[in-house]
Amino acid sequence: MTLKEVVLGIDIGGTSTVAGYVDRNGACIIEDLIPTLAHQPADQFFQRLHTFAKQLLEKLGGGYSLRGIGIGAPNANYYKGTIESPPNLSWDYVDVKKSMAKYYTVPVALTNDANAAALGEMMFGAAKGMKDFIVITLGTGVGSGVVANGKLIYGADGFAGELGHTIYDSNGRICGCGRKGCLEAYASASGIKRTVFELMAKSNETSELRDVSFHQMTAKMIFEAALRGDVIAKNAFEVTGKILGMKLADSVAHTSPEAIILFGGLAQAGDLIIEPTKRSMEEALLNIFQNKVKIIPSAMPEGNSAVLGAAALIWNELK
Ligand SMILES: [Zn+2]
Repeated sequence: MTLKEVVLGIDIGGTSTVAGYVDRNGACIIEDLIPTLAHQPADQFFQRLHTFAKQLLEKLGGGYSLRGIGIGAPNANYYKGTIESPPNLSWDYVDVKKSMAKYYTVPVALTNDANAAALGEMMFGAAKGMKDFIVITLGTGVGSGVVANGKLIYGADGFAGELGHTIYDSNGRICGCGRKGCLEAYASASGIKRTVFELMAKSNETSELRDVSFHQMTAKMIFEAALRGDVIAKNAFEVTGKILGMKLADSVAHTSPEAIILFGGLAQAGDLIIEPTKRSMEEALLNIFQNKVKIIPSAMPEGNSAVLGAAALIWNELK
């Protein structure tokens, strides 16, 4: 019997960690999650992860051969195979490759979740066949993965592609990183909430969002209100798109991409976010780049995208 080749894709998050087995064509055969329990020592986490991944493979009932393990994690360093001072995890510095080597002999690679998303789009999603593109993840934070000349850019230290922490307004909102006015403080899920509250403070416009507290409000609620014609909600998308488009125009000047792919929670608003972003980007672009760069939504299956991205990292190495 020939064994079917699979890779293990793992996405380590602050609350839960998702793992799944993915074949060469990007089919996720099985996927499940465990709590990360990030307050416990990292050693315990990797031990639990191994047991969990083993059980997951056993559920498939044999016939599979593991070719490698790809991991997406916050502040992951591709070159060193480490996680360094990750946000939302109490681990200070973890040698992930070394921890995984206790349990596995197959190749292990890791990178941050935005880079994993970019590789996922390149191998299985909206960037198939593209050599120059940028994926921007609009979720709890704002991340980006830059592919130029067919290669994901890791940079000199492995941390390339932090578009979310480039500055839009040096006197602007405080960002999670401690500095002022980063793109992330505007174009993340909490960024658009902050915009809604600013717009409500500045006008008397009625809005269904006025009865919702900051804590309860979600980006999805803003999206749904905008679809129902809520002016504040629609304006919040306009403002977000304007800022995002300006920053994307800067990125276009760096690598001249064929397309920019919007990924993650806010990107699910579709044209509500894409249209103002595109308009603002075109306005800010140098003439040689105008009307050339597409802005498109992710084409990864919503539920499995994190695991597929992590798996794409290792499939890409095995190519
Ligand atoms: Zn920042």
